[in-house]
Amino acid sequence: AAPLLDADFYAFQHQLSEPEQRALSGIRHFLDTEVRPFADDHWERAESPRHLVPRIAELGLFGNAFPETAQFPNSAVFRGWVALEISRADPSTATFIGVHSGLAMTAIAVGGSAEQKAEWLPRLAAGELVAAFGLTEPGHGSDTARGLETTAERRRRDDGEDEWVLNGSKRWIGNGAFADLVVIWARDVADDQVKGFLVRTPTPGFHASKIERKQSLRAVENADIELSGVVVPERDRLQEIHSFRDVAIVLRLTRADVAWQGLGVAVGAYEAALAYAKSRVQFGKPIASFQLVQQKLANALANITACIALCMRVSQMQDEGLQADHHSAMAKAFVTARMRETVALCREIVGGNGIQLDHGVARYFADAEAVYTFEGTFDMNSLIVGRAITGIAAFV
Ligand code: FAD
Repeated sequence: AAPLLDADFYAFQHQLSEPEQRALSGIRHFLDTEVRPFADDHWERAESPRHLVPRIAELGLFGNAFPETAQFPNSAVFRGWVALEISRADPSTATFIGVHSGLAMTAIAVGGSAEQKAEWLPRLAAGELVAAFGLTEPGHGSDTARGLETTAERRRRDDGEDEWVLNGSKRWIGNGAFADLVVIWARDVADDQVKGFLVRTPTPGFHASKIERKQSLRAVENADIELSGVVVPERDRLQEIHSFRDVAIVLRLTRADVAWQGLGVAVGAYEAALAYAKSRVQFGKPIASFQLVQQKLANALANITACIALCMRVSQMQDEGLQADHHSAMAKAFVTARMRETVALCREIVGGNGIQLDHGVARYFADAEAVYTFEGTFDMNSLIVGRAITGIAAFV
């Protein structure tokens, strides 16, 4: 069994099966030896750790949610712990995997025909190709459901086959700067509904440019994407996506994973702050011996503990088929808000060194801002919960 994390104060991990605990232990070893030691460097250079793709694939970290590609039986709770562990080592690597294996592969698993799943999921799980998920646009982030402007127009070719022509712009697309396959969400001009398209790159009319000067999740290469008359054959339209409601199913599944990712950010910062507090001496004593520092550590650990409980339950609900949009929205909003408090407490404990990469907290502190914002801001996820509570949607 994997040794418990000190930050798993209530031993929640004991609820995983023995094989899951063993698998988690192997993943933690990989992260400690091959990811964590190089994370600051990638972050500073603003480069995704693409060389890790074969190892990540070998360890079964791509596509472990889908029967077609899972390398061993596992639960949503296990996958949550995996997301926590990856993020605890490096939130950028967690996002890189989350976009490829979470958003893009889930879009195909939820929205693809049997043929499309068979064609793409094994290749993506093997890391042969890297995928991205293109929903957000320059003019539409929180309101993509109603505002999405990218268009898809169906036309008949001379050989009698149908194809689609995509036009529009996307922004913030993770892995988008180098992805081989980009799931593009676009509005069908005929029925005004959002549909999903698998765009293989490079292709004429598709142009991606890396977003520079980011100060959060720097080792995730996000892109602005322009689509000018990009042609996609009908066989590459996700056949089971009929409207934005189907996109919401994908987000329901991935948002719970982002909650676990936020938890990993908090745990990474907490562990670094605790180690620093024990070694840093002021007034002749380790700062860990001061009551106010202990209170900050206790508050951080209480946040983490409450969030593990919430994440465990939302993932169990997914395993039980009970998870609804508002359940994952609450988890994403609540956990990332506590994450933000926690990384701030941890940064305070590390004093001036807390703003410098070398002391273990600064990267989590900066990365927390993007995790707080993507896959629905705190406000939008709160409004999804508010709609469930009141029966009134405040955002349409
Ligand atoms: P806006 O929607 O403009 O919101 C600005 C502010 O207004 C927010 O505080 C918001 O909560 C608030 N607001 C808006 N509407 C309301 C309302 N009705 N009531 C109350 N408050 C409101 N997108 C992808 O498609 N694919 C990706 O891979 C991807 N990766 C990302 C990675 C990073 C690092 C980042 C930063 C973003 C990524 N995104 C991605 C985009 C992300 O999902 C959006 O940034 C997010 O949905 C918020 O949209 P916005 O930034 O346009 O903010």
